[in-house]
Amino acid sequence: MTKKNLPLWLLAAAIPLVAWLPLPDFWIVQLNYIGLYALVCLGVVLLTGVGGLTSFGQAAFVGIGAYTTAWLTLNLGMSPWLTVWIGLAITSVSALVLGAITLRMSGHYLPLATIAWGLSLYYLMGNLQVLGKYDGLQGLKSLSIGTLSIGQGRLFFVLTWAILLVGAIALINLLDSRPGRAIRSLKGGSQMAEAMGINTFRYKVTIFLIASLLASIGGWLLAHFQLTVNPSAFGLKMGIEYLFMAVLGGVGHVWGALVGAALMKLLDDYLQVALPALIGTSGSYEVIVFGIAMVLVLKYMPDGIWSMVAKHLPRTDRPVDWDDAADLPARSKPTKAEPVLEVHLIRKQFGGLMAVNDISFKITVGQIVGLIGPNGAGKSTTFNLITGLLSKTSGQVKFRGQDISALSSRLIARLGMARTFQHVKMIAEMTVLENVALGTYTRSSSGVLSSMLRTNRVEEQRLMKEAQRQLERIGMGAFLHEQAGNLAMGPQRLMEIARALCCDPALLLLDEPAAGLRHKEKQGLAKVLRQLQSEGMSILLVEHDMDLVMEVCDHLVVMEFGTLLTQGTPAEIQASPAVRAAYLGTEH
Ligand code: ADP
Ligand code: MG
Repeated sequence: MTKKNLPLWLLAAAIPLVAWLPLPDFWIVQLNYIGLYALVCLGVVLLTGVGGLTSFGQAAFVGIGAYTTAWLTLNLGMSPWLTVWIGLAITSVSALVLGAITLRMSGHYLPLATIAWGLSLYYLMGNLQVLGKYDGLQGLKSLSIGTLSIGQGRLFFVLTWAILLVGAIALINLLDSRPGRAIRSLKGGSQMAEAMGINTFRYKVTIFLIASLLASIGGWLLAHFQLTVNPSAFGLKMGIEYLFMAVLGGVGHVWGALVGAALMKLLDDYLQVALPALIGTSGSYEVIVFGIAMVLVLKYMPDGIWSMVAKHLPRTDRPVDWDDAADLPARSKPTKAEPVLEVHLIRKQFGGLMAVNDISFKITVGQIVGLIGPNGAGKSTTFNLITGLLSKTSGQVKFRGQDISALSSRLIARLGMARTFQHVKMIAEMTVLENVALGTYTRSSSGVLSSMLRTNRVEEQRLMKEAQRQLERIGMGAFLHEQAGNLAMGPQRLMEIARALCCDPALLLLDEPAAGLRHKEKQGLAKVLRQLQSEGMSILLVEHDMDLVMEVCDHLVVMEFGTLLTQGTPAEIQASPAVRAAYLGTEH
């Protein structure tokens, strides 16, 4: 038991305690609602808080779970223990179809699409004769095991909260794993994740599916709790409320789901009684109060209430339990005979601007090639064309003999090309170690299920060991458990290099790695680059620090206004009058 899991253990202990304490029945009913809502909110946390995909439509999946069990138990007399699975199956199909269509959308299009399906499912449920139109379906039975009725009281509480607990554990485990780190990288845009070999679209669909399944189970429970289903519980208003709950509680935290659901339910009940008494007339005044409260929370507490609590929980570093772990598999490296990179007449046009104009050069095994030129010369764009981040207007790139011109950055990464970014791309809330472990993605395989069940631990240790090894190699061994966002610019760049090294690349592309580094750090970097070279690594380096470039590079490619000015050895480049005039200044 670690201190980090304290809330988990408290919850596990509280469930039997609450069930057997002589609490008023009304409290138990409240807790049942809270558990149900929290289950749906758990999905919202994963989808919206962690994955950055805002959905107003989760209530629709609650509806699918509820209507499926209602219709099947009422009309076909099926057991609810069977209908829950059928509900999950229907939910899966719906979520996969909807996800395939909508999850490629970005910006405000996705939230709008979720509103659209929330509305259409609501009207579908309300207009179908077989589903009882807006009256819904009545006369459901309580859940029961054999002759034991679970009812609406304490046993239902235990069932609901046990499911909630299992869901929370599964999510906590998932987020602390290989696929979990991939999911946490979604929010920062897809460029870095894809460059680490992560299929970001697949993970978006995955978290959408998980969130929908949680909602569907919530719906199944709700149907057998209220013993009636009608569309109003599954409409857009409820979808917005689930999102409210999660945001109020803390949409970035698993426990935010529970805190938000509890607060919303209790406040709602309190205000429904207190406000009319205060004002003297009846009406849905609580909605107005919620609206105002929501705006205030968004303004002053955007991370929700749980983040306030989390701040005061003791911070525990991940225990280092991987010293004896086996090394990760390494890829076969190019031999001396193999050319590593062949760039042939690549071109990139942005509208009328020729950012990269027919650039060609080669990198052979163990070579450090420098790509230099003034700001705006097209160096980063060249990088992005080689690594597949940008599509080429024309030209060809071969990596280890294979034509990679048409491949995506993810597939190129999988072939063993790793890069850093001119503007550091990291997940600021993750530790340095976790950020660097992202680099091992293509060398490992644990999936979502094994991570939830925690059968991934052996591989997880191997990943962490590799991440630590690369961090130590680059002189960052003291920062393992530091939050990445707290690092200064220099160490952030070093962290990116360690992450790239975790890919076990055959070619390393570094975009201005020395920017922001102190003199000593630069010397350390030069040493690491030479050491990598001696191990047979090939490197493409974009750098402004001419001392470093001249010191470590074997070959220089000089660009100006998108075109190739000249290329040659550092000595040749330094002697070139054109280059001297243009870039190096007369003192060189
Ligand atoms: P460098 O890395 O050498 O400083 P870049 O490759 O970043 O240069 O940029 C080369 C030129 O291409 C610049 O004029 C820049 O403004 C332009 N450019 C880069 N990216 C884009 C883009 N996505 N859209 C339009 N123009 C771009
Ligand atoms: Mg650049």
